[in-house]
Amino acid sequence: AKDAGRNRVRFFSPAMQTAIDSRMAMEAALRQALLQGEFQLFYQPQFDQNGRRIGAEGLLRWRQPGRGLILPMEFIPLAEETGLILPIGQWVIDTACDQLKAWEDQAHTRFLQLAVNVSARQFHQPDFAARIRASLKRSGANPERLKLELTESVVLENAEAAINQMHQIKALGVSFSLDDFGTGYSSLSYLKRLPLSQLKIDRTFLRDIGTDPNDAAIVRAILAMSRSLGLEVIAEGVETEAQRRFLHESGCHAYQGYFFGKPNPIEDWDTASRS
Ligand code: C2E
Ligand code: CA
Ligand code: CA
Ligand code: CA
Repeated sequence: AKDAGRNRVRFFSPAMQTAIDSRMAMEAALRQALLQGEFQLFYQPQFDQNGRRIGAEGLLRWRQPGRGLILPMEFIPLAEETGLILPIGQWVIDTACDQLKAWEDQAHTRFLQLAVNVSARQFHQPDFAARIRASLKRSGANPERLKLELTESVVLENAEAAINQMHQIKALGVSFSLDDFGTGYSSLSYLKRLPLSQLKIDRTFLRDIGTDPNDAAIVRAILAMSRSLGLEVIAEGVETEAQRRFLHESGCHAYQGYFFGKPNPIEDWDTASRS
């Protein structure tokens, strides 16, 4: 009654209010970015054991006027929370398919594969397979050149639906790579049920390979397991010649990392990567 005003509950502290305001500003800016074409795919090359370029991973960048280049860790989490990851992820797939088609039209790039990252929400859309099919058809890209990178947590979240979804997409000719492999909890028997073509060894295992015998043992175990399951393996985050040599000697024949080339805009693709 009389002193209701005094005992009023404050729901948000000023600091919280500021955080909410900046989240809302960022959400508005993300929406704007889609409309204004501020997203860009960077391409990081992948190589085989003979130093030949075999493909690339497409990595998302946000070029916000006045702020420069923004990395995914700064905006993907909010995009996932708000659902904006759906149109953004669709843009990534459409852009990747167009790039594949452009590569296929040139003799020296026609064999390249392109991998893109898919977030949980994007992957679990009921019509995701139909969307991939439509994007391939619109662009004219060869489905066999497209690879989708999923993490274990994406697949583990509703595993039955995920496996079903993967089979539908695989039937289009598209392949799957399990990203950040080794950081999750997948058991061997579980892994066997997934229609994967590739495991991607997480870069944290490579970092200390020279000094930590456990990491070296984990990498060798992943390679042995992949061989017995008939899966390809690619190592990410290869930064040094010593890491490349260790991987090569352990039987890993595909590599990605700063040692070979950083992610770059497509215009820099030929000058910035080896081969
Ligand atoms: P990720 O899929 O594990 O991508 C590899 C990250 O490692 C990339 O960071 C890449 O730039 C970086 N990297 C590559 N080589 C090296 C190396 O030799 N050393 C080190 N230290 N780092 C290296 P980036 O581009 O900042 O992307 C971070 C994460 O954002 C990605 O991790 C992925 O989870 C997510 N992401 C990127 N693009 C997309 C996208 O289009 N959609 C979705 N949903 N997620 C994306
Ligand atoms: Ca990835
Ligand atoms: Ca990764
Ligand atoms: Ca990662």
